[in-house]
Amino acid sequence: MFGRKAAEKLDNTAAAMHRAGKKVGGERGGRAGDAVANAVIAPVRRQLDTDCTRCARGKCKRH
Ligand SMILES: [Zn+2]
Repeated sequence: MFGRKAAEKLDNTAAAMHRAGKKVGGERGGRAGDAVANAVIAPVRRQLDTDCTRCARGKCKRH
């Protein structure tokens, strides 16, 4: 069940959290969204042996 599809979902969720935070609180909100994503998603994401799927598509703003 873990693989590229799951990685893609997590990467997109992290990006969505950043966007949602930014919408509410500007740059600070964006960083808060990143902090939540790092706390909640990153530990799961690290289990997946897949490179950032958003980097691969040129959509990543985090790397
Ligand atoms: Zn990336």
